[in-house]
Amino acid sequence: MMAAITAAGQGKRVLVLEKMDRLGKKLLATGNGKCNYTNRYQAQECYRSREPEFAWKGIQVFGAQQALDFFHQLGILPKERAGYYYPASGQAASVREALERRMEGLGVEIHTGERVTGLYPGEKGWLIESDHGKYGAEKVILSVGGQASPVHGSSGDGYDMAQSLGHEIVPVLPALTSCILKGDFMKKWGGVRIQGKITLYSKAGEQLAQDRGELQLVDYGISGIPVFQVSRYAAVALHQGDQPYLIMDIMEDYSLRELTQELEQRREALGQYQGVQALDGMLHSKLAAVLLKEAGLSAKQNASSWSDRQLTKLAQRMKQWKLGIAAVSGFDKAQVTCGGVSTKEVDGKTMESRLCPGLYLTGELLDVDGICGGYNLQWAWTSGYLAGLHAGR
Ligand SMILES: Cc1cc2nc3c(=O)[nH]c(=O)nc-3n(C[C@H](O)[C@H](O)[C@H](O)COP(=O)(O)OP(=O)(O)OC[C@H]3O[C@@H](n4cnc5c(N)ncnc54)[C@H](O)[C@@H]3O)c2cc1C
Repeated sequence: MMAAITAAGQGKRVLVLEKMDRLGKKLLATGNGKCNYTNRYQAQECYRSREPEFAWKGIQVFGAQQALDFFHQLGILPKERAGYYYPASGQAASVREALERRMEGLGVEIHTGERVTGLYPGEKGWLIESDHGKYGAEKVILSVGGQASPVHGSSGDGYDMAQSLGHEIVPVLPALTSCILKGDFMKKWGGVRIQGKITLYSKAGEQLAQDRGELQLVDYGISGIPVFQVSRYAAVALHQGDQPYLIMDIMEDYSLRELTQELEQRREALGQYQGVQALDGMLHSKLAAVLLKEAGLSAKQNASSWSDRQLTKLAQRMKQWKLGIAAVSGFDKAQVTCGGVSTKEVDGKTMESRLCPGLYLTGELLDVDGICGGYNLQWAWTSGYLAGLHAGR
């Protein structure tokens, strides 16, 4: 949509083929229906790729301020919360509709319910095949997204098309998703939300990623924004045959020594109560029961019976709870795709393929995945703008 607006804004005739029944369906689901469309904080590490500087160069040309200005011109007044920008209307639909209105205003021809099935370079441009017919075009912008959330239209069609034109595809994996943990204890902690820090390690103990914030404990594993942020590294490690694990700190505000002292006091003062009761007010009761079991204690055992060794183990587990990762949740749950068309074969200034002149690639289809916080849409705006600008020249 951004590419079409930018190209049509330069007077070019633009045709958009969209396989879903309307444009920009995924936008409606973004930011929990509120559309977090960019972020004030921008840095290279917010955009992950085998070539980290690729996206960052584009962001220098069309970054958060340009996106805010562009959308303001379309009528979207920004509302900021801790650097995250949303439309002041609080409705993702405002963003989708503003884009569609501008496309219509610029005379972009829009065919919905039409799936592109093939792209073929010809002597004077491109032949595009769809399930409805064939089209000739001077230039093509491939903006079909990645593979995450296929219910919104993006089911990985672009990889086959790009590959058939000679492009390399960096392994495509789910990212910004939850983690399925090893073990069977998770059923008991399902539904609990806690503040904590998680650190992802490789089997060999190399730190791969870290984040903190609200962790959502679910009956198959762990979710929440910090888990989303580290999940792409877990997905890559698992794909490479590693056995990554998380270390979870659920008591970040306390040192191990302070926690041990606190537990000693509880053993003393509340020793006549069962373990879960002695931990009441300190930990969520569901979590306390799991923790006690994992530390080799029974939830019903009185706190006075905890040995020093058991008590230390309990405190250690609160600070360093090791969680083996069995898998990351699939594309149906993921918000974005890690991997995609290798950026080495794309000119970062124009988004034009280095292999096929006249072909431009944008967004999630490329090997760029942003962190949570408006960075994936920012990358869609940036790459769409650059592709539209140069294809439309
Ligand atoms: C639940 C959810 C919440 C999210 N929230 C945020 C957020 O708040 N902030 C943020 O920055 N990012 C968010 N994201 C990520 C963000 O939405 C995507 O990274 C971004 O939309 C990618 O843009 P794109 O143009 O590359 O692809 P898409 O938005 O996926 O668009 C691709 C379009 O191409 C169409 N298409 C696919 N194949 C074909 C074909 N063969 N022929 C014709 N049309 C085709 C699809 O139907 C789709 O309309 C979220 C994602 C999800 C799933």
